[in-house]
Parts: sequence; C-alpha cells; structure tokens
Amino acid sequence: MKRREFLKKTSLAYPALAAVGTSEIFIQKTPPVKSVIIIGSGLAGLSATRKLLEKGIKVTILEARNRAGGRVFSHKPTTAPGNVIELGAEWVGASHESLIALCNEFKLELVDNRFQSDVTINGQHAKAGAWKMGEQAEKFWENKTSIWEAMTEAEKNALDKTDWWRILTQRGFNEKDLAIRELLDSTDFGESIRHVSGYAAFAEYAESSPNNEMDLKIRGGNSMLIDKMVEAIGADKILLNHQVKNISQDKGVKVSCENGKTFQADRLICTAPTWSLMQINWMPVLSARYLEALNALQYARIGKFPMVFSEKFWEREDFDMVTDTPAHYFYHGTKDQNTTGGVLICYATGDKADVLASVSKDQRRAIILDALKPAFGDVSKYVNEELMYYWGQDAFSRGAYAFYGKNQWLTLRMELGKPQGLCHFAGEHLADWQGFMEGAINSGEEAATQILAG
Ligand SMILES: Cc1cc2nc3c(=O)[nH]c(=O)nc-3n(C[C@H](O)[C@H](O)[C@H](O)COP(=O)(O)OP(=O)(O)OC[C@H]3O[C@@H](n4cnc5c(N)ncnc54)[C@H](O)[C@@H]3O)c2cc1C
Repeated sequence: MKRREFLKKTSLAYPALAAVGTSEIFIQKTPPVKSVIIIGSGLAGLSATRKLLEKGIKVTILEARNRAGGRVFSHKPTTAPGNVIELGAEWVGASHESLIALCNEFKLELVDNRFQSDVTINGQHAKAGAWKMGEQAEKFWENKTSIWEAMTEAEKNALDKTDWWRILTQRGFNEKDLAIRELLDSTDFGESIRHVSGYAAFAEYAESSPNNEMDLKIRGGNSMLIDKMVEAIGADKILLNHQVKNISQDKGVKVSCENGKTFQADRLICTAPTWSLMQINWMPVLSARYLEALNALQYARIGKFPMVFSEKFWEREDFDMVTDTPAHYFYHGTKDQNTTGGVLICYATGDKADVLASVSKDQRRAIILDALKPAFGDVSKYVNEELMYYWGQDAFSRGAYAFYGKNQWLTLRMELGKPQGLCHFAGEHLADWQGFMEGAINSGEEAATQILAG
C-alpha cells in the first residue's frame, strides 16, 4: 500500500468507529445534516465548505484572523513594486492533482518554480552541478523509489520506529553526504532529519515528483486561489475575527467566540492547527486518546526572512542554495517576475529559525549577508528591505506544519482524524500529503464526505 492510500482506506472507517463508541464521546447522530460550522478559512476549511454547499448544506466559517487563507499568505513588498512573494506555502507540486484542478477551474496560471541548488559548506561555495554526494549515496538517491516499492508493508512500517538520518547512515551515506542531506531535507520537514519519522521521510521522497513537489506556483501569488475560493463560496459565509473559544455538543453543536458571538449547527468541522485546537474549551472534553495524540504532535519551526534587493546579483532565475550557516537556505522568491530588483528568501528551520527570529535586526542582517559572501561577496549595498515571518511564533499554528517524529506517523494521524461526537477534523496535519496545500484540500473534502455519509 502506498503511503497515500493508507489513510484513505482507514479514514473510511471513521464514521463507523465513532458510531460503535471508540471515541469516549457518545452523542447520537441525527441525520440529515442541514447546517455545519467550520473553524478556519484555510484550504481545508474552504474545500470542505465547497463540498457541503454543493449538497445544499448551510455553512458558516469562523476565522480567527483578519484574513482568509491561513498558511497560504502571499505578500507584495512595498520596496519592490510588481513583485509577489510567499510568506507561507510556496510550491504547487506536479503530483498535487486536487490543487492543480482547482487552479484550472479558476483559470489561475501555474508557472515553473523549479530551482537548481548551489551548496555552501565550511565557507566553500559550489555551484549547482559542481557538487555531488558519494557514490553509494548518489546510487541510493537515484534508486530510492524502486527500493521503497520493493519493500514489504511490514518493512515499510518498521521504518516509523526509526529516523531518516539513521536510515541514510545504514544505506552507506558518509559524514559529508549526511551533512548535505541534513541541509536539504530539513527544509522539507522543518526540523532535523535526526528526528523525523523514517517512514514519513522515505515515503515522501519515494512517492513524490522527481523535484520533490517543488515544481510550480500560481502566477500573481498563491493567495489568488484563496481569493477565488472565497468569491465562489461567498465572502458573507466567512466571518473574520471570530476566534472560537468554546465548543459544546449535545443534540447539535454550540460554539462561542472570543468576541462574544455564538453559533449553532448540526455538525462542526475543525480545521485549526493542533495548537489552536487545544486552546478551545471542549464540552464534553475530548477523549483521553485524542488528547494524548494532541499533546504528542509537534509542528516544524520554519522562518522566512526575505531580503528585497535592488539587483538580482544571483543572476540565475532558478537560483537556490543551502548553507551550513544559521541562514540555512536561500531561494529566489521572485523567479521570472521580470521586475527591477528581486527577493531572495532566507528560509531557516528548527533551532536556526529560532535564532534568526530572536536576534536583533542588525545581527540578523549580518548573519544573512555573511552566508551569501562565499558565493557573491559583500552584497549589502543592494539591500532595500528586510522582512520576516516566523511561523514558530504564529499565534494560531505555533509552527509551519505538523512534524511527525519517530513512532508517530502510523499512530497519531489515525487518532487525530477520528471524529469526536458531532465534531470532525481536517487540516494538513491529517492528510496523506501532510505538510502540503494538497493535503489540506484533501482533508477538508474528506471531512465533508464523512458528514455527508451520515
Ligand atoms: C513556511 C511554510 C511553507 C510552506 N510551504 C509549502 C509549499 O511549498 N507547498 C505546499 O503545498 N504547502 C506548503 N506549506 C503548507 C501549507 O501552507 C499548509 O499545508 C496549508 O496551507 C494548511 O491549510 P489548513 O487549512 O490545513 O490550515 P490553515 O491554513 O492553518 O487554516 C486553518 C485556519 O484556522 C484558523 N483558526 C485557528 N484557530 C482558530 C480558532 N480558534 N477559531 C477560528 N479560526 C481558527 C487559522 O487562523 C487558519 O486560518 C507551507 C507552510 C508554511 C507555513
């Protein structure tokens, strides 16, 4: 079974599980459902809404922020008119069928967003194509999909008990190879490869597009999709600045918000990241197993520190680079935008992101510019603007996306996807395409399907 088939098969069992009482909340479900409250206007909430509206169900979305889109968050830097950068989700993957279908439906153009990676380690800069891993490591990387496919289910499942770093050491990666993979792969998981579930990591690399889903982006910014979905749904159904504080369920669901407003419906879909979900008072309380799973799941610390430059001194439109400095990773955030100047996005993960976010602005600028020196020399004269968005401190997610560690991929997700009485759950953290916009869309649609199934 492919990773992506695992949850789909098991998720079909959720309504039945809830009915026989595996959840500790016993609430009689009374079909037909006429109204649903959705917490969150990210891609999971918007996708669930569309599916429910198609069936004539009344939907109200309650959104804590003053904007829709959640972790899809495009930004137009003031000092670089005409440019758009992404402070949240960046790439649309070539395998992300639902997301691509939505872009087609709304006539949004997808443009190439692939990069060729330079590497700077120990002050030595190597251009893309001029660096390689050792022979054994290169061979494994080239054949990872066939190696994965040749494994039995039991062998794959056993990988959840270990981490990606250990698997690579067992596959003959030497110290230098491991250092390169740590820099590259931690940009995907948002934390060190010493901590990520070996199953989740191997499956991600074996089952993704050759460019690991870093393929495309929406011309004009990924938030264009959010705008189109909001327009299609009707902006009047999305109540901004409505942070849900209390949820009680009996014959229906009652919700109250921080601003004092209250709402009622037959069912609820909560798409809030787990940090936010845990700040809500649930009556009756969530099941012990559900709470245990919530307490166990971490989110990746990713910070984006874009620098607006008056000149594209990096020359290649498809420039990106990993470095062994706290600045970690750079990519050209305004690829092919054909405007004067451009933006290099400094993208740091884990402790590095924490450090960059907490030091002074001067220290941060020095760290970022120093990291660029081996490749480009002193580029300080080109700096027009410095931006920062640190997802580790985002008020509603406290991280960029869920991070599944050892022994968590095959267990926690299953638990967190189970409905609790009349409340269903969605969000990237529950999806096969976990950590992606595609996953958020799929999970929203699946939660709506659960409700429609009764
Ligand atoms: C830095 C970064 C880089 C990323 N890169 C990529 C990428 O390249 N490609 C890709 O496909 N994906 C990427 N992602 C992941 C992608 O952004 C997410 O998977 C997706 O947007 C999550 O959607 P969601 O609906 O599950 O959650 P969200 O977008 O977080 O939506 C949940 C919503 O619930 C709201 N909410 C929370 N609590 C409450 C409450 N109590 N009451 C009311 N509302 C509440 C939040 O404000 C939010 O709007 C990235 C994410 C980040 C942060």
